[in-house]
Amino acid sequence: MDLMEYQAKELFAKHGVATTLGVVVETAEAAKAAAEQLGGVTVVKAQVKAGGRGKAGGVKLAKTPDEAFEHATNILNLTIKDLPVNRVLITPATPPEEEYYFSFLLDRANRQYLCIASVEGGVEIEEVAKTNPDAVKKIAIDPGAGVDADKARAIATEAGFPEPVFEQAVEMIEKLYKVFVDEDATLVEVNPLARLAGDKLEALDGKVSLDENASEVRHPDHEAFEIRDEANPLEAKAKEFGLNYVKLDGAVGICGNGAGLVMSTLDVVAYAGENHGGVKPANFLDIGGGANAQVMANSLDVILNDPQVKSVFVNVFGGITACDEVANGIKGALEILGDKATKPLVVRLDGNNVEQGRAILNEMNHPLVTQVDTMDGAADKAAELANA
Ligand code: GDP
Ligand code: MN
Repeated sequence: MDLMEYQAKELFAKHGVATTLGVVVETAEAAKAAAEQLGGVTVVKAQVKAGGRGKAGGVKLAKTPDEAFEHATNILNLTIKDLPVNRVLITPATPPEEEYYFSFLLDRANRQYLCIASVEGGVEIEEVAKTNPDAVKKIAIDPGAGVDADKARAIATEAGFPEPVFEQAVEMIEKLYKVFVDEDATLVEVNPLARLAGDKLEALDGKVSLDENASEVRHPDHEAFEIRDEANPLEAKAKEFGLNYVKLDGAVGICGNGAGLVMSTLDVVAYAGENHGGVKPANFLDIGGGANAQVMANSLDVILNDPQVKSVFVNVFGGITACDEVANGIKGALEILGDKATKPLVVRLDGNNVEQGRAILNEMNHPLVTQVDTMDGAADKAAELANA
């Protein structure tokens, strides 16, 4: 789960990282009121889960509350990288004298953590990495050893934090590591990490990605970070059903059991689609182990509600959940959905109790359901129907 800047800053504050929280508002009137309350010059910042807000006109200084009103009006009308801006953060303007970059992230390939730091801030870090790669330090972190005061000092030295803010940097690095590890994050990024007037170091921006696998058991409080209106409505619905669903852009709805099988189904459908007008998978949906009628109905409910879906491919390899149970699930689902089921379904069953499963579907003889025995054949049929 990616956090908004204001949420990342809340986590920073919780762990003692120097930052300014400000006020989050959804209207220009509220922005003006917030600016009045804060007094002085303020910054109006678009809250969207995308970088480059500054460049897109989503970060503006306001000298007066009226100016905050004006900026908020404009920013709330912006779309940044396809994301509508629904809220803005108002903070006291604290002009940075220098801008630095700092992050901790999960380095999956090397099975460790990575720290990226640069004191050549003020421009995009990607740009610095290209034009002046030596200025971007990459420091491997052994997850077992972690980051203690000594390691934080070594990082600050390698990054080259200047003397007046060096001790603050050491302290902040240790605390940011706490945010990263204690909150089970996969990314903690501060850009800019700013040197303000009086040599005060502060996180002016924050990007945090939390590992959702840790949310339910280890961090029940993280659920509060979910912002309903920002989620894709189909993904939100799937989440309520407890389904593992990711919306994609194509026309063939996909439903299968097991993440591996569903992944390869996406590949096979994309490949088959090349012969049928280039149709592509519309989603990833893993129904998991217990595919009873209700789970199947919920899955089809989500997939069929995607207006982009033209056909559905149900690909199940019966294991612990036998094919006859899955067939009964599909049958029950079509009964539950009734008139709501309007798009052709291609079903491929194989594995445990496959004969019984196929017999149930044959007997049902539903006009929308086509059975195909092989995965390739079924993918081809589903692609053909989506392109019809
Ligand atoms: P991003 O473009 O999405 O990364 O948004 P940032 O929060 O990093 O803002 C972009 C730029 O706006 C920063 O590099 C700063 O120069 C400036 N900025 C951000 N926050 C503040 C602030 O609180 N005060 C001032 N004066 N400038 C800010
Ligand atoms: Mn930034």
